[in-house]
Amino acid sequence: MQPLGQTAPRLSARARWALWVALLGLVGGLLALLVWLAGLYESNRAQDQIDQDASESVVDFRAGLARSLQDLQTLQLQTRKPEALSQEIAQMLRSHRQWIRLEWRDPGLESREALDTPYRAPPFERTPRAQSRPYVAQACATASRLAVPAYSPSYFLPQHDGLGEEVMELCLPLVAAGRADGYLVATYSLGELLTQLPSPQLGRSVQVALTEADGTRLTMRGGPQRGRGTYTAQHLLDLPGVTYVLRLDSWRATPALFPNVLTALVAALAVAMVSVLALLARDTRRRLRAEHELAQALAFRNAMEDSLVTGLRARDLDGRATYVNPAFCEMVGFGADELLGTGTPAPYWPEERAALYLERQQLRLVGGVAPPREGYESVFMRKDGTRFPVLIFEARLIDQAGRHTGWMSAVLDLSEQRRVEELSRASQDRLQATARLATVGEMASLLSHELNQPLAAIASYASGSLNMADAGLKVPDEVQLALRRISQQAERAGRVIKGVQGFVRRGERSRQPVAPNALIEGVMPLVQLQARKQHVQIEVQIETDLPAVSCDRTMVEQVLLNLCRNAIQAMDQVPSHLARLTLTVRRVDVADRMGDADRWVEFAVADQGPGISAEVADRLFTPFFTTKAEGMGLGLSLCRTVVEQHGGFLGFEPNQPTGTIFRVTLPVNPMTAPQPTAS
Ligand code: ADP
Repeated sequence: MQPLGQTAPRLSARARWALWVALLGLVGGLLALLVWLAGLYESNRAQDQIDQDASESVVDFRAGLARSLQDLQTLQLQTRKPEALSQEIAQMLRSHRQWIRLEWRDPGLESREALDTPYRAPPFERTPRAQSRPYVAQACATASRLAVPAYSPSYFLPQHDGLGEEVMELCLPLVAAGRADGYLVATYSLGELLTQLPSPQLGRSVQVALTEADGTRLTMRGGPQRGRGTYTAQHLLDLPGVTYVLRLDSWRATPALFPNVLTALVAALAVAMVSVLALLARDTRRRLRAEHELAQALAFRNAMEDSLVTGLRARDLDGRATYVNPAFCEMVGFGADELLGTGTPAPYWPEERAALYLERQQLRLVGGVAPPREGYESVFMRKDGTRFPVLIFEARLIDQAGRHTGWMSAVLDLSEQRRVEELSRASQDRLQATARLATVGEMASLLSHELNQPLAAIASYASGSLNMADAGLKVPDEVQLALRRISQQAERAGRVIKGVQGFVRRGERSRQPVAPNALIEGVMPLVQLQARKQHVQIEVQIETDLPAVSCDRTMVEQVLLNLCRNAIQAMDQVPSHLARLTLTVRRVDVADRMGDADRWVEFAVADQGPGISAEVADRLFTPFFTTKAEGMGLGLSLCRTVVEQHGGFLGFEPNQPTGTIFRVTLPVNPMTAPQPTAS
C-alpha cells in the first residue's frame, strides 16, 4: 500500500471529465442504437407479416374463385329439367353468398334462366339488368376468345337503400356436343367476395381492400385503422379479363419509442446502470477529496509533531504505550519501536522509582484518579542511565464514541531549566561572595591602616631597645635575639599589610626575582611554630640549582604559609608518628600552547590527612567555603587569585596512601633562567 499523500500519477481533472463524458456518450449511444434497432426490427417484422398476409390472401382469393368456378362447372345445365335446374341454381346461390345472381344465357346472350341470391333484395331492381349487358358481353367475349371462364371489369350497382356496391360478371362459356351453347353468367358482389374468400381472421388485424390497377378503391373489409398507411402490402390479382390489386393495410402504427417490454426493460436497466455509475463516480470523487484532505491533515499533524519540543506519549488503559512523538524519543533516548507496546515498568523509569510510579499509575488507570491540571514533576531515565527531571501533564484520551481509552501525556524536560536555575543561584552566590569580599577588602584596608601605626611603634621600640643594647646596656643575649625577632616580625607584618592593601586595591605589582629557597626560608619559622604545636613533622626537599621565580615575595609566602597551615590543620586527628608535612620544590617543564617549553618551579605541600571528598573538592576555591568551626573560607580562594595573578597555577590531587598534595607552579624569572639550547 502506498503511504497517504504519495499517490500514483493520476488523471488530470479534465481528462477524467472527458472519460466520464465519453462513457456516458457511449452508453447513451448504445442505448439509442438498441432502441432504434428494436424499433427497426419491430417495423420489419410488421412489414414482413403484412407482406406474407397479402401474398397468402391473394392465394386464398384465387383458390376461392377457382373453387366457386368448379362449383359452377358442376351444374349440368342441358341435362336437367328446368325445375330441377332452378332448384340447383337456388341451392348454389344459398351456398355461395358472393354470387348475387346466376344466369344461363344463350349464345346471343339472351337470358334463358336467371335467379337472384336469396340473401338480399333483388339487386337489379333499381338499375335494370340491361344496363350491365356491356360488362356481360365483354366478359363473354373474352371467355369465348380465350375459351376459359372470364371476368368483366367491375362496375357500380346502385341499390334501393341509397348505397350501392361494386360487382363484376363471370362468364362461363357452355359447350354442348363440341359447339358453343350459351353462357353461364355469375354476378359477383366484390364486397361479399372480400368477406368470404381470404381467411376470416385476417380482417381483425388488417384492412383488406380491392382496388383497380390505378388505385381506385372498389371495396374493402375492416374499419378505419389506427396506423393506416404505415404498413401496407399490395399484390396483383390478375384474373382472366380483369386485373385487381389486393391491398392490405396493417392496423399497426409506427412502433412506439420502446416497441416492447424487453427493450423498455433493457433501456431502463441501462439508465439505472448509468445512474449507479454516476452515483459511484460522485462517491469516488467525495472519497478522493476526503482522502486528500486526510492526507493533508496527516502531513500537517506529522509536521506539527516533528516541530514540537514537548514530548507526547499516549498510553492505553493497561499502561501500554500506544504513541510517542519524536521529541519524546529524543528526550528518553529510546526509539519509537522500543517504546511502543511496552507496558510497565516503562524502559524510561528509573529502577529505584519504578514501584512508586507503578502505584501512581495504578491509581490513575484503575482508580480513575485524574492527575492535577497543573501537571506534576517526576524523574525519567535516559537510555544511558542518566536521570533527568520532567514535568508531566496528563489528559484523558476519549475516542469517537466518547469512550475513555487511555491517557495522553505531555512531557517537558526540566534539565535545562534546572541548569539555568542552578547557574543563576551560583551567580547569585558569587555576587554575594563578591559583595562580602568587597566588605572584607574595606575592612582589610581599614585594619591595615589602623595597624600600621602600632606595628611601626613596635618596630621602633624593638630597634630602640636593640640600639640601647648595642650602646652598652646590659641585656642578656636571649632577650637581644627575641628583640631582633620582634623587630623582624613587626616589619614582616607591615609588609603583609602593605601587600594586602596592594592586593585589595589591585594596584601596582611589585615583582622581583626571588630564589625558591628564600621563599621557603621565609615561611619556615611560622610553619615550624604551628607544626610543633600539633606534633607534625616537617620534611623539606628542595632541588639544587633552582632558578629564581618572578613574584611578589610577601604574597607568595602567604600562599605557602596558608597551604602549610591547611595541611597541618588537616592532620589534627592523625597520630603524631604518622603526621608529616612534606614540602617539595622542583623544576618542571610544561610545554605552552606555542610548543615552547616554559620553565616553571613547582612548590608541593603534601599532608597525610583524610584527603578531600568530591563534594568539598567542588567548592574548595569558593570564597567563604569552610568546613572548620573557626575558618573563614577565604584562604584557598585568595591563594588561587594570587597564584593566577602571577601567571601560575594552583591545583591539588590526592596523596598516597592518604592525604592531599597542593601544587603551586610559578614562572621562572626570564633574566635568571638558563637559556634553552637551540635545537
Ligand atoms: P579555611 O582554612 O579558613 O577553612 P580555606 O579556603 O583555606 O579556608 O580552606 C577551605 C576548606 O578546604 C577547608 O575548610 C578544608 O575543609 C578544606 N581543605 C583545605 N586544605 C585541606 C587539606 N590539606 N586537607 C583537607 N582539607 C583541606
